[in-house]
Amino acid sequence: MLNIVLFGPPGAGKGTQSQKLIARYNLVHLSTGDLLRSQIAQGTELGLRAKKLMDEGLLVPDEVVIGMIESQLASNTTAAGFIFDGFPRTVPQAESLDALMQRYDTGVSCMIALEVAEEELVSRLLERGKTSNRIDDQDEAKIRKRVTVYNTETAQVAGFYAAQQKFHALNGIGAIEDIFQQICTIIDQHQAATTEDTRQATDEVKA
Ligand code: AMP
Repeated sequence: MLNIVLFGPPGAGKGTQSQKLIARYNLVHLSTGDLLRSQIAQGTELGLRAKKLMDEGLLVPDEVVIGMIESQLASNTTAAGFIFDGFPRTVPQAESLDALMQRYDTGVSCMIALEVAEEELVSRLLERGKTSNRIDDQDEAKIRKRVTVYNTETAQVAGFYAAQQKFHALNGIGAIEDIFQQICTIIDQHQAATTEDTRQATDEVKA
């Protein structure tokens, strides 16, 4: 399976690149932000509780998002792989994702981080807020709060994957297509290395 964690602050381009990646690699897109907004739209109890935090730019509790990912994995057992967008956002979420993936005899293939400076993020999100209907994109103070939450609570997740030699960073400023090609290069190199490992293991068994 190919399981990609697409990482980066709000406004880095994760959603845009996810759409292109799912088409190229036939992956299931799991965005915890989208899953939470769908709960809000359905008016569920979980959605109501999450909305208050989301509107303030704060993180929803780990157990809520982990539970959502768990049920998505359980209902997509035939998927060729997943692209995780906006998850994991804390180290406990990353640890839980590893444990969940192990249940399916798989794991995170690599994390790709899109790096974008704060002023660019603020201007991108304010622009998106004109059409997205997202309250959290319409107020500069809330946007800056989300970036601060990213820097204080989420950025350390990069270290979690770096320790597993799975971390790759890219400049997230540039043409969408150029950034997409750079992401594909990382994924294709990962897949080539995995295929080579499998071939060597098969040769060893035969020898
Ligand atoms: P996003 O669409 O990824 O920008 O997420 C929108 C909001 O949903 C965030 O500001 C958080 O309030 C909440 N959220 C999304 N994903 C997570 C997550 N993995 N952990 C905690 N909160 C999340």
